[in-house]
Amino acid sequence: MRSAMAEAAVGDDVLDRDPTMRELEERVAGLLGAADALWTPTGTMANIVALMSHLDRGQAFLAPQGSHVLDFELGTSAWLAGGMPRPLPHDGGPGKVTAAAVRRAAATDGSYAALHPALLCLENTHNAAGGTVTAPEEHAALAAAARAARLAVHLDGARLWNAAVALGVPPGALTVGADTVSVCLSKGLGAPVGSVVAGSVEFVEHARRLRKMLGGGVRQGGMMAAAGLVALENVDRLAEDHTRAATLAAGLRERGWRVREPQTNIVLVDVADVAGTIAAFAEAGVRAGAIAGKLRLMTHRDVTDRHIAAVLDRIGEVGPASTGSPGAPPAQLDRTRDLPQQARSALS
Ligand SMILES: *Cc1c(COP(=O)(O)O)cnc(C)c1O
Repeated sequence: MRSAMAEAAVGDDVLDRDPTMRELEERVAGLLGAADALWTPTGTMANIVALMSHLDRGQAFLAPQGSHVLDFELGTSAWLAGGMPRPLPHDGGPGKVTAAAVRRAAATDGSYAALHPALLCLENTHNAAGGTVTAPEEHAALAAAARAARLAVHLDGARLWNAAVALGVPPGALTVGADTVSVCLSKGLGAPVGSVVAGSVEFVEHARRLRKMLGGGVRQGGMMAAAGLVALENVDRLAEDHTRAATLAAGLRERGWRVREPQTNIVLVDVADVAGTIAAFAEAGVRAGAIAGKLRLMTHRDVTDRHIAAVLDRIGEVGPASTGSPGAPPAQLDRTRDLPQQARSALS
C-alpha cells in the first residue's frame, strides 16, 4: 500500500481533479451501484456532507439508536446540517429497525407546527450494536418505507464491506433505494485515511462544494486514493476477521464471559464494570474498548489466529469473576432489548 501511494499518478484535485482519485471514486461508485462518488478524508465527513445535502435546518432525521451519526460525530448533524435527531429503538433486533417503526416515526399530524422528518439514516453494519448486519431485503423494505413517507435515505456504510462479506452478496445489493451511501476505506480495509460518499451526479457535484467548505478538498489526493484502491483489494479478506471474531467469542463464552454471537468482526461482552474490565485486560496485555455500555473487542487485518489464542490465554488469567461479570453465560441474550442511550466511547 505504501509503495502504491509513493508511485501514484497525481494531479491537483482542488483545481481540476486528480486522476487516481477519480479512478477510486469511479471504482467505488460502480461497486455501490451509484452514478458517482466523492472521496473524503474521513467517514465522519462523508456522513456530514450527505446530511448537509439532505437536511434543511430544523428538519428531523430518523436513525437507529446508537448510530454513528447520532452518538459518535460530535453532533455534527445538528451543528452543521441543522437536523433534529430522532433515534429509533431497535425493534427489529440488535442494530435493526422495522419498516413499521420508520412509517410511524415519519408520520406527522399534519399540523403546520409539526416537525418534519426529511431523512432516514441507516447504518450497515451497525457499529454500536456489535457490527450487526442488515440483509438486502430488510434494507430494501426500510428504504421503500422511507420513500413512501417522502424521506430521503442515507446509508452509513462505513462497515458495509463487512456486511457484504458476511452475507455473501455484492455491496451494491445493500444500497438499493438509498440516495446516498458512505463507505470507509480505513479500518478493516487498512487505508490510513479515506472514505467515499456516493450518490447521483447532482449530489456529488454539491457534495464536492460541501467537502471544500469543510476543509476536505485536497490537492495531490492520488496518494491517498492509491491507498484506497489497494484497500479495496482487502474486502474478501474480511471473512478471516469474521471467523476470528467467532473463535474469540466462542473462547470467551467457554471461559464464562457473557458474549453476543458476533455477525462480523466486533465482539461485544456484557460486563458489570466496563472500565475495570478494560483495565484488567490491559494489565494482561489485551487492548479492549468500550461501546454502548459494553466491552468491545475487534478483529482486523493485523490480528492473527495466534493472537486470538494468546488473547484467550491472557483473558483466562483475568477471569470473569474478578471483573464482576456474572459467571454463567446465558444461552441467548434478549435480542429486542434497546441499546443504552449513552454509548461510552468513540473508539473505532
Ligand atoms: C468509523 C465509522 C464512521 C466514521 O469514520 P471516521 O473515518 O472515523 O470518521 C462512520 N460510521 C460508522 C458506522 C463507523 O463505524
